[in-house]
Amino acid sequence: MKIAVFPGSFDPITVGHESIIRRAAPLFDRLIIAIGYNAEKRYMFTVEQRKKWLSKVFDDIPNIEVDSFEGLTVDYCKKRGASYILRGLRTSADFEFERSVGQVNKKLHDHIETIFFLSEPQHTALNSSIVRELLRYKGNVDQFVPNKIKITHEQIKNK
Ligand code: ADP
Repeated sequence: MKIAVFPGSFDPITVGHESIIRRAAPLFDRLIIAIGYNAEKRYMFTVEQRKKWLSKVFDDIPNIEVDSFEGLTVDYCKKRGASYILRGLRTSADFEFERSVGQVNKKLHDHIETIFFLSEPQHTALNSSIVRELLRYKGNVDQFVPNKIKITHEQIKNK
């Protein structure tokens, strides 16, 4: 079984994440989208809310599973029997960051490979923090989040 984990905050999911996940899903028997929880971080949306959105967006792809975890990504991969970590690359800054994380992860668990997907050019400037900023100031985010979901102000946990 080829199992991959796509770890991230998805606070909230964007069309950039969606594109990477849809393009990568056919490569694996199972693709687990795993919301990483970091006690130090403040999130705009609850884990339950983020999970709900992810499940809805990918309800048409049977080999996708949505989960959450606390701790090291490689430990979570081991627990789930995953040999691949999936990440997206937008810019050279992403590359530099991901390279060090990926190389350290490889040191921790040699049998886990990180696989990178290039973002589509129209998604290069997009990230969840821009979407949060727009939401904070009541901007319209429809073009930046997947078609299947609608984000409302009432869903915000931390402004
Ligand atoms: P993290 O907090 O771990 O960076 P994110 O939810 O921001 O979590 O991102 C998860 C993954 O999705 C990362 O690999 C990131 O590079 C990728 N990603 C984020 N935004 C985009 C985008 N606009 N296009 C392609 N990939 C993206």
